[in-house]
Amino acid sequence: MPLVEASLLDILVCPACHAPLREDEDAAELVCTSDDCGLAYPVKDDIPVLLVDEARRPG
Ligand SMILES: [Zn+2]
Repeated sequence: MPLVEASLLDILVCPACHAPLREDEDAAELVCTSDDCGLAYPVKDDIPVLLVDEARRPG
């Protein structure tokens, strides 16, 4: 099961850098595709939480 619908994922961008997001189904996160940013946003109750304050930083 995808975390979010593909049509929704297509229009979502990272709020920090506006790069596209990709799903990490195992972690239940949407991960920024920018190498410089890479923030991971949680998906709670099927709702992506695209808030920089809520994001997990890489590394
Ligand atoms: Zn980003």
